[in-house]
Amino acid sequence: MTDQYYYPNIWGRSILTSANEILGDNGVNALLNLAGLQEYIGNYPPDNIKKEFSFTHVAKLQQALYDMYGSRGARVFATRGGEQTFQHSMDKYDKVQKAALAAMSIGSTEARHRVGLQFFSKFFNTVSDQIVRIDDDETYWYWIIERCPMCWERHATEPVCHLGVGVLNAASTWATGGAKFRIQEINCKAKGDENCVYALEKSPIG
Ligand SMILES: [Zn+2]
Repeated sequence: MTDQYYYPNIWGRSILTSANEILGDNGVNALLNLAGLQEYIGNYPPDNIKKEFSFTHVAKLQQALYDMYGSRGARVFATRGGEQTFQHSMDKYDKVQKAALAAMSIGSTEARHRVGLQFFSKFFNTVSDQIVRIDDDETYWYWIIERCPMCWERHATEPVCHLGVGVLNAASTWATGGAKFRIQEINCKAKGDENCVYALEKSPIG
């Protein structure tokens, strides 16, 4: 079962470089030791889009962050890590960025948010082995992850896929030209739910 699904190298690399900005070399080394991923010490994944960074490794890194800093620390880290992962991939997938900008250049904030989320769900499904779909009701957009790397083979009593909140934050703000939204993971496979589900308020904050 293990190691059959992958993220692009660039996302694994972004997780580690953003951890490095916060924790420094020693902190990242401690993290990698705790995660049992010593192979990456001083040897981050290459800066390319090959699908080689396994879901097992994504989950082990998230688990190690949680073990070192608790859920609050993991959330703080995830916000930064998610933003950087998003920004790096926009830079890397330049054509995607241009196509997304064209798709989202018109319409209300809500329309741009919807188009952006639809766009990025297709993007995730295309460049990685993560599987995402979108749903909504009056109040929320729902980002529904059917195959999730962040909690891969993990068990917890609360939602643990914090990195996704950071990525969705960055993507939502980018798609709408600067608006901020409340985003929360409400269901998580790690605690036995069918899918990992994020609720994104349709109305921006403020
Ligand atoms: Zn998850």
